[in-house]
Amino acid sequence: MAYDPVARHKVIEKKVVRGELRKYYRFRTDKWYGGIATGDCVGCGLLCKFCWVRDPILFSPKKEGYFYNPDEVARKLLSKARKKAIKQLRLSGGEPSIGRSHLLRLLDNLHWKGYLFILETNGILIGSDKSYARDLAAFPFLHVRVSIKGCDKDEFAMLTNSKPEGFELQLRALEYLFNAGVSCNPAVMTAFSSPKKLERLRRRIFAMMPSLMEEFEEEELILYPHVLDRLNRFNLSYRTAFQPGSVPPETV
Ligand code: SF4
Repeated sequence: MAYDPVARHKVIEKKVVRGELRKYYRFRTDKWYGGIATGDCVGCGLLCKFCWVRDPILFSPKKEGYFYNPDEVARKLLSKARKKAIKQLRLSGGEPSIGRSHLLRLLDNLHWKGYLFILETNGILIGSDKSYARDLAAFPFLHVRVSIKGCDKDEFAMLTNSKPEGFELQLRALEYLFNAGVSCNPAVMTAFSSPKKLERLRRRIFAMMPSLMEEFEEEELILYPHVLDRLNRFNLSYRTAFQPGSVPPETV
């Protein structure tokens, strides 16, 4: 049965947040964005059929990972970045907008340190509460990448098993962030959509926020073995995808 995406995020929040403590399952440096120190959060309120998070972390958030306070996360990210001499930090996941006070405190901690901070989010919580975007606007070193699932509400529902209304929350997140002055961009998973639907979405975003068109990103499906397993389990076919070793360098 389809679930309410906001309600499900709140349920997951109870499992992965304790006050200002938030669960993570790893910290790493990665090649994306030209090199970035990354914290991967446990727990997401969506259940995407193409998700790259491994099953135990996605389905058993209570059991997996460890709780960290914002100071510990800041120290870990900075230490990873300094070791590789990189100037970008990121939270990914899982869904890093779960645990708002943890996230805001972490951003407070990293203010004025000279790094670009990228928040990768599905946009559901930000799109359901305008004040979240206003809070994020206090951090000029922040960029929010809103990862949009599907090109319309039917595709969103098919890809996530969620109620279709969730699709609009993703676009609303972009709108709220944009209007609050937060640097942001749409990243659209295109592997399951026709070019026609993608173009329709692109035009819709362009009509709402013309200056974001330069930033419109097409997200690639990468066939890691556990992603392929999941796609097969859901009998989900894709239009385009890359093998892990053959992602074009210009998309990294
Ligand atoms: S929003 Fe991201 S982390 Fe959450 S289920 Fe979908 S792909 Fe996975």
